[in-house]
Amino acid sequence: MSKPLSDYDKRKQISVRGLAGVDNVSDLKTNFNRHLHFTLVKDRNVATKRDYYFALAHTVRDHLVGRWIRTQQHYYEKDPKRVYYLSLEFYMGRALQNTMVNLALENACDEAAYQLGLDMEDLEDMEEDAGLGNGGLGRLAACFLDSMASLGLAAYGYGIRYEFGIFNQKIVSGWQVEEADDWLRYGNPWEKARPEYMRPVHFYGRTEHHPDGVKWVDTQVVLALPYDTPVPGYRNNVVNTMRLWSAKAPCEFNLKDFNVGGYIQAVLDRNLAENISRVLYPNDNFFEGKELRLKQEYFVVAATLQDIIRRFKVSKFGSREVVRTDFTCLPKKVAIQLNDTHPALAIPELIRVLVDEEKLPWENAWDVTVKTCAYTNHTVLPEALERWPIDLFQTLLPRHLEIIYEINQRHLERVASLYPGDMERLQRMSLIEEGGMKRVNMAHLCIVGSHAVNGVAQIHSDILKATVFKDFYEMDPHKFQNKTNGITPRRWLVMCNPGLAEVIAERIGEDFIRDLSQLRKLHSFVDDDAFIRDVAKVKQENKLKFATHLEEQYKVKINPNSIFDIQVKRIHEYKRQLLNCLHIITYYNRNCVLLSQAAPGYHTAKMIIRLVTAIGEVVNNDPVVGDRLKVIFLENYRVTLAEKAIPAADLSEQISTAGTEASGTGNMKFMLNGALTIGTMDGANVEMAEEAGEENLFIFGMRVEDVEALDKKGYNASEYYNRIPELKLAVDQIAAGFFSTKQPDLFKGIVDMLMHHDRFKVFADYEDYMKCQEKVSALYKKPREWTKKVILNIAGSGKFSSDRTISQYAREIWGVEPSLEKIAAPDDLK
Ligand SMILES: *Cc1c(COP(=O)(O)O)cnc(C)c1O
Repeated sequence: MSKPLSDYDKRKQISVRGLAGVDNVSDLKTNFNRHLHFTLVKDRNVATKRDYYFALAHTVRDHLVGRWIRTQQHYYEKDPKRVYYLSLEFYMGRALQNTMVNLALENACDEAAYQLGLDMEDLEDMEEDAGLGNGGLGRLAACFLDSMASLGLAAYGYGIRYEFGIFNQKIVSGWQVEEADDWLRYGNPWEKARPEYMRPVHFYGRTEHHPDGVKWVDTQVVLALPYDTPVPGYRNNVVNTMRLWSAKAPCEFNLKDFNVGGYIQAVLDRNLAENISRVLYPNDNFFEGKELRLKQEYFVVAATLQDIIRRFKVSKFGSREVVRTDFTCLPKKVAIQLNDTHPALAIPELIRVLVDEEKLPWENAWDVTVKTCAYTNHTVLPEALERWPIDLFQTLLPRHLEIIYEINQRHLERVASLYPGDMERLQRMSLIEEGGMKRVNMAHLCIVGSHAVNGVAQIHSDILKATVFKDFYEMDPHKFQNKTNGITPRRWLVMCNPGLAEVIAERIGEDFIRDLSQLRKLHSFVDDDAFIRDVAKVKQENKLKFATHLEEQYKVKINPNSIFDIQVKRIHEYKRQLLNCLHIITYYNRNCVLLSQAAPGYHTAKMIIRLVTAIGEVVNNDPVVGDRLKVIFLENYRVTLAEKAIPAADLSEQISTAGTEASGTGNMKFMLNGALTIGTMDGANVEMAEEAGEENLFIFGMRVEDVEALDKKGYNASEYYNRIPELKLAVDQIAAGFFSTKQPDLFKGIVDMLMHHDRFKVFADYEDYMKCQEKVSALYKKPREWTKKVILNIAGSGKFSSDRTISQYAREIWGVEPSLEKIAAPDDLK
């Protein structure tokens, strides 16, 4: 028998990782040593593993610089229409491997590291995740940046450079404990501060109405300091920019006008202004109406619009640089995409700039704004919709409130003229909600102020038109579109699962990495024994690697031959982690991994974590169960952990109540990585079933229509509880303290919720879910049949590339044309 290959040898054999030419490797080594010496100021006697990571990061970064400058020059000269993706979240994860993959440097760097006596995966593990997001919405923004660069769009991501990203989760005695994510502590080699482009952002103050226009005066100023991060396209020499703003107090802050506490106090108070970019709000699908959050939302919008307008004004006329003054052509040169309502203030802010500063008539400013802006909705859950109290607005952004009132008045006049006498409709469609506290409905503002409104999966877009935005759809049907979400195949296949990428490339070539629809060619290989064997072997290797990781990190041994049944996603009642718990309790015979985070203020979510860890304590220590079932709650789910867990999954849990998960993107990552899905007909699961064939997924439970019918009839949990003995047993066990012997009533709240006020109808899908899991078990006992279904799923997953999503945004909303052409390579480095 030949000796098993080491990880290094295995990696070397994989061709999708780029060529390790001798010249490349030798240059990389030279530059690595140069950075260790000149940048890190270390020699090899004292260098730490982190120093080596930084030396490698700088070495790889050098390959971006020429391309970055050239790309931006190219945009300046060609002056194409620019796309601005505005988002309060960019959940980027790590940059090193992604940069190497997109620049085809991976094998060369691996070889260089090896020759230097270093292991590249060890070094990669030193990089902090850029965790500037909560979950799907933030990760979508990151996948979109990769696709926009890979499709050659002149695009920019604009957001906030949070000093603290999503918290680190620790599990202490089964409970979630949050720790600050101090991700910038050792420095960030991927960003470049640009203090020369600092911009002022105004808050508070009051408005003055003069004959020549409105002035916003007596404001407090905070400076926005931009940090640029390169966004490389896939092997096309394009490097776009993600610009994140950091808050900086002006030098004179609190000294001139508010000099009460004296000089020292004034300097200390600079923190107040700089707190704006301190921390990411850790809520997923939940609106928290805090002043600091509203400040963040305006801060990113105000700074970004100054950039957009400056770049618009500097236009090239032939070879001459001229100042563009005709704002009516703004929509021809600029598209602004709003990632949810979080950056909705872009709409009144653009009007303010055009009317108050550029002196455009209201009608023109309005027309330009609507044609420039487009809005993506991410949820129909009422608790997630932003509705800001008027009082907060009045104090913080008095001029914007006036503008919103003006927009609303004109909007309601139009509604009234189209639907004379329909007072209820007027009330429903107003941007201002009356009744109790007056609030601004930000979704309504976005719909009225945009030329396109989209949902993120077909079923979700249909629900928007039929329910939450029905009135708006009836009035302006042309605005409503669908753009089904996607994921970047670079990070979510080539990077995280090179073994699978390679066995695919061996059959159909490497072009699928740019054009994922080519995966359908794998249909010719569903009966190919060698391919079935290769796919199964890669999965087994991934499972072994993940099992080793779990053992090292958590001292739990899991049987790599058992099914890896994984539900990883933020914890939320609508995602129904509790349904999964009930299955585990009932059946006790499957290997199950659960990873997720709860928002720090979400009590039920934290209790769900406690329940999962409690079930784990009982099940994992039951000698009768042995290694047939382990329940693992992995701490600190994040992009990097997703990259490790998803390639190892056999079964993907996508079990939200139909109609509640707008799209999901985790579902797509699993599908592409060779897991089968057990799921409801919700979000993008519906389209996954369409693409792979419904018979190749494990679909169960109520459809949206069934949920609606049940709502009409009235959902009664005890009906199910009394009728289904196994359900009753599981619930009774939780209630009686079987999983919490020291504190029997620990889960009383959860049981109470499930029995009496469960908005997401867990029990209604219990029976069908159990039956469906039985089908899963039966198929898993036939490995060949299982792997054939896996192949059919991979072959059907091409639609879910974010390249497809972005091409549709480009053509159908932004009016720009995607391209797979390379741009000229710079004379890099030399
Ligand atoms: C993809 C992803 C998500 C979204 O997962 P869903 O199952 O769609 O909710 C959340 N967090 C991370 C780290 C991800 O990579």
